[in-house]
Amino acid sequence: MKQQTGIGIFGGTFDPVHFGHLRTAFELYHTLPVKEIRFIPCQQPVLKTAAYASPAQRLAMLQLAIADRREFTFDDREIKRDTPSFMVDTLASLKQDYPDNTLYLIIGMDAFNEFEQWHRWQEILTLAHLVVVNRPGNDPNLHADVMTLLTQRSCHDLTKLMQQTSGLIYQQRVTPLMISATAIRELIKLQQIPRYLLPENVWEYIQREKLYIR
Ligand code: ATP
Repeated sequence: MKQQTGIGIFGGTFDPVHFGHLRTAFELYHTLPVKEIRFIPCQQPVLKTAAYASPAQRLAMLQLAIADRREFTFDDREIKRDTPSFMVDTLASLKQDYPDNTLYLIIGMDAFNEFEQWHRWQEILTLAHLVVVNRPGNDPNLHADVMTLLTQRSCHDLTKLMQQTSGLIYQQRVTPLMISATAIRELIKLQQIPRYLLPENVWEYIQREKLYIR
């Protein structure tokens, strides 16, 4: 039985959610000192092109994907908010709701490589630790400024990570799964079947809602 009080925060577009997200979350749940992994779909992505499915559809797919998992939760605060989905605002509001829980913000290496473009990124590090996971297929070279940040903040020791409530960057290797939402959308557009890249009930929902066909 886990006796941990951290919360893993997994933000993203989830357009759609897939096994790259879910396996990563599962492995991190079992590695990090967290009581849950909380998925937070954004209203509109800040650094990427607009999402294809609506916020309500992306949330519905996420709910289907995690329905039977008690360790996975979802949070609709970004979808309900009428402002851009800046992670710094999300973390500040989570911190108000959960002042006694350390927040572990999970991001893939591709997202981390753009971290210094995130809105008020320095503040993010006063609210949470970062947990950076490998992602196959992305450029393995880190930008110089991100590399410097990593050198300054890197922590390899989970015990040390737990002694602080924010500000450190922990890298965790997860099973490399070369799955992306972009590739899934492209398969569907080409009338191919994305089965085994995402949960079957999510694929069924996509077909019912006729998502990603053009
Ligand atoms: P898209 O292809 O539309 O850009 P995506 O597959 O990258 O989407 P997002 O919802 O944008 O999915 O990703 C949310 C978070 O999950 C990001 O931090 C991203 O790096 C991470 N992530 C996505 N896919 C994987 C994967 N296969 N392995 C590890 N991390 C992943």
